[in-house]
Amino acid sequence: MMNQYDVIIIGGGIAGLQAAIQLGRYKHSIAVIDSNDGRSSICRSYHNILGWPDGVSGETLRSLGKMQAERYGVSFVHNEVLKAEKGDEAFQLFCRDGETYTAKRLLFATGVKDNIPPIKNMNKCLGLSVYVCPDCDGYEVVDKHVIVIGSGKPGANMALTLTYFTKEITFINHDWQNLDNETMDDLKKKEITYIQDDVEEILVAGESSHFVGVRLKSKDILNGDRGFLGFGGNMVRSELAKDLGIERTENKHIIVDPRTKKTNVDHVWAAGDITVHSEQTTIAMGDGMQAAIWIHKSLINEK
Ligand SMILES: Cc1cc2nc3c(=O)[nH]c(=O)nc-3n(C[C@H](O)[C@H](O)[C@H](O)COP(=O)(O)OP(=O)(O)OC[C@H]3O[C@@H](n4cnc5c(N)ncnc54)[C@H](O)[C@@H]3O)c2cc1C
Repeated sequence: MMNQYDVIIIGGGIAGLQAAIQLGRYKHSIAVIDSNDGRSSICRSYHNILGWPDGVSGETLRSLGKMQAERYGVSFVHNEVLKAEKGDEAFQLFCRDGETYTAKRLLFATGVKDNIPPIKNMNKCLGLSVYVCPDCDGYEVVDKHVIVIGSGKPGANMALTLTYFTKEITFINHDWQNLDNETMDDLKKKEITYIQDDVEEILVAGESSHFVGVRLKSKDILNGDRGFLGFGGNMVRSELAKDLGIERTENKHIIVDPRTKKTNVDHVWAAGDITVHSEQTTIAMGDGMQAAIWIHKSLINEK
């Protein structure tokens, strides 16, 4: 039967690709279904990855990963899974274009979708001069003037976190969300400049992706060396998993066994940002690898 696989990986980002490479090397029949709209599709440079001292883009990692997995016979489908059902023998996946796929095992690697407002020039700077994660890119703003564009409390918390790396911080409360007195006091104590206004444009040097400041709705221009975002409200893409009865945390991350990455539902695993961890590329790779090993064990035990 067409479209029938041993394993289907939903999500071909970092975790899904690493799992695909390993499962391909076990010679199982594998398909990766991916909608190409996750975090690895928008990050233009990762700076903290072993072997890439000058940074590497998500796009590069994704295309290299796909090429590597294809060498082992892994199939790739550009599509979005809209619904997953568990049948007696296999799982059935229904995609946006009307195609159906079946698999004996499922790996969820659907990640998280960032809440990033559509501000002019934002996308070209992501990961290069505008960042989202202090663990990833705090180092990039050491002793620089960083402009935090954010919303209320999450933005203020980002600004406060960055005081470990730099003393020159401006926080623009883009959404005009109220801040409690205690947080305002904390910002003051740390000498963080506070502005309440909408950011209309990220300013870059010429045609480059090099952040040089922002233009506000008030038309004021504010110069800075780097940007950081703090909007909160990222979407954890675990709705399909929920419909299969998979256990999630309150904030919708999938709960897995730490050793095997298996979920509470038989024959279903999860890896990467969709699970509970520190949202890092290298951790997503490790998760994907671990899940692949245990999916393989489960397939050979059945055979
Ligand atoms: C701007 C930015 C900068 C970052 N910088 C760093 C950094 O410097 N260092 C670092 O370690 N990490 C960084 N990260 C985090 C890193 O990108 C993530 O940890 C990593 O991408 C997680 O991999 P993943 O496979 O779990 O998810 P993703 O890479 O997001 O992949 C998930 C995939 O699943 C697909 N998908 C989702 N739902 C469906 C569906 N229903 N059907 C089909 N496909 C679906 C998506 O299209 C996506 O391709 C950064 C993130 C951002 C946004």
